[in-house]
Amino acid sequence: MTHDRTELPAEGVPRSTLEAQLKSMPPDAVHGHWSRAFRGPEDVQEVGRMAYNMFLSDNGIFSLRSEYIRRIEEEVIGMCVSLFNAPEDASGTFTSGGSESNYSALHAMREWAREHHPHITAPEVIVPFSAHPTFSKGCHYFGLKLVRTALGKDLRADVSAMAEAIGPNTIAIAGSAPCWPYGLYDPIAAISDLAVKHDLWMHVDACVGGYLAPFVESLGHPLPAWDFRVPGVKSISADLHKYGYCPKPASTVLWRSESLKRFHHVHPEDWPGGPYQMQGFAGSRTAGPIFAAWTVLKYLGRSGYRRLAAQLLDTSRRLAEGIESVEGMYVFKSDLMPLGFGSHVLDMQLIMGGLRKIGWLLVASRQPPLINLPVDGATGDAVINAFVADLRKVAAAVRAGADAGRAELTY
Ligand SMILES: *Cc1c(COP(=O)(O)O)cnc(C)c1O
Repeated sequence: MTHDRTELPAEGVPRSTLEAQLKSMPPDAVHGHWSRAFRGPEDVQEVGRMAYNMFLSDNGIFSLRSEYIRRIEEEVIGMCVSLFNAPEDASGTFTSGGSESNYSALHAMREWAREHHPHITAPEVIVPFSAHPTFSKGCHYFGLKLVRTALGKDLRADVSAMAEAIGPNTIAIAGSAPCWPYGLYDPIAAISDLAVKHDLWMHVDACVGGYLAPFVESLGHPLPAWDFRVPGVKSISADLHKYGYCPKPASTVLWRSESLKRFHHVHPEDWPGGPYQMQGFAGSRTAGPIFAAWTVLKYLGRSGYRRLAAQLLDTSRRLAEGIESVEGMYVFKSDLMPLGFGSHVLDMQLIMGGLRKIGWLLVASRQPPLINLPVDGATGDAVINAFVADLRKVAAAVRAGADAGRAELTY
């Protein structure tokens, strides 16, 4: 049997050779743009890199015990919690991303249910069909049964379908603010009513919208209530490495109270080292993202995030106008982000295939067929103009009957 597996070189390779190789690897800035989301403008990226590099080699495993890391992580959580209309003793946990934030919530709700609903031995969690796949992954990891309910005609969670799905084993319910495929807010307040009525844990997945919504609202664009103002909401996930414009990996899971955070922590002692206390799932981790998040949050402040939110709305509008100027294309009417576009007349699999062939790295959704563009603070005219021009070319070719190959409309 032959393998083309790379082997460790016998002798070290010179740094200059490696640097040249590394530089040749990534896709070009324009075609690779959407796959690099989410980034802030260059100055924000630079500030994040500065702090990240300074603390790259510091070990975040000790963030509960190393005073200088503990304090910074706490300040990050403090700044984040302050955005979500939280009660006085609300709390949070710094995580590696929306995946880990959602896993943390799923784990905590399971532990909570063991105390609050001890008779339930086969726990179930209800989410709308549009909820992120990390709910499916997390439920798989934690032995929870996930029930996905049908969406309403407006593609938001159908609250009556969720109510019907509640049974004797239900421990929790969740909605998105907004969901990834459509950028639409689920009726969080109505889902919360169900949670309160049936004594369920309610989680809100605000991974994509969490650090954008407060500033869009402050610019005078009302959004549906989705945060701790809604009484049934016990936990919220929100990604700093999306519209918080912090370097990856960085996200938060916020808890309505310290007493709920208790269900998150697992601190075993049954080994020779005694108490093993970490912030979350990770053990050894770089402290870089924690310090970078602290630095970016402070660097921007409320006024900076508001300015970037205004800029983002403007960028999205220009991109949307460009896309709608292409015959046959429409922009999906979302509440926030991402920007999705589709067609009522052209086969979106052919559009996706054509754009992929040109080199664009894209993600999409199937129902309805939409290509999802994560517009961010680094999206500028060069990308918008190139993308719209290529879309115009591809759409014209598809309209003329060309078949340059299909691509699945998948994430
Ligand atoms: C991005 C996202 C996630 C997952 O976050 P990662 O940081 O990619 O792990 C979960 N839910 C929603 C709504 C998201 O947009």
